[in-house]
Amino acid sequence: MSIAICPGSFDPMTLGHLNIVRRTAHIFDRVVVLVMYNANKSRPMFSIDERVEMIKRVVWQYENVEVDTYDGLLAEYAKRFESPVIVKGLRAGTDFENEFQMAQINKTINPNLETMFLTSSQKYTFLSSSVVRELASYGADLSEFLPREIIDEVLTKAQGGK
Ligand code: ADP
Repeated sequence: MSIAICPGSFDPMTLGHLNIVRRTAHIFDRVVVLVMYNANKSRPMFSIDERVEMIKRVVWQYENVEVDTYDGLLAEYAKRFESPVIVKGLRAGTDFENEFQMAQINKTINPNLETMFLTSSQKYTFLSSSVVRELASYGADLSEFLPREIIDEVLTKAQGGK
């Protein structure tokens, strides 16, 4: 059985992330959306548990997609599967250097681990969770950027609500 891991911080999951997950689910038998702690991203909007719960609500209709979380190294997490493949989205320009470095490092830690990239859909090339957080703080219409299941939650959180 082919297994893909789609890792990220998903704070929150955008339509760009969902586009990558959906396309990955067409290619692989099983897809794990892995919500990771990211020490470089201080002050997250949502807790890890909140993100997991929100993503589950978005992907529930995809039979071969599951959601998990891990607070260690991705390459270590991947060791629990036989031939896992990391699948990541590549947006315009900026993602490349970082992703290239991460893929090399992961392969060094776990030689069994391949990384594949799907190019971002044109529509989502400039979409990021941080842009969404910024827009949400102004109460903007987020329907072009977020899965509809989580729009209200993001707006409420951004306006300081619980
Ligand atoms: P962000 O950079 O928005 O905080 P994450 O750290 O959650 O996102 O990113 C997880 C993965 O999703 C990365 O591989 C990233 O390149 C990819 N990704 C994020 N946004 C998009 C998008 N709009 N289109 C395609 N891939 C994306």
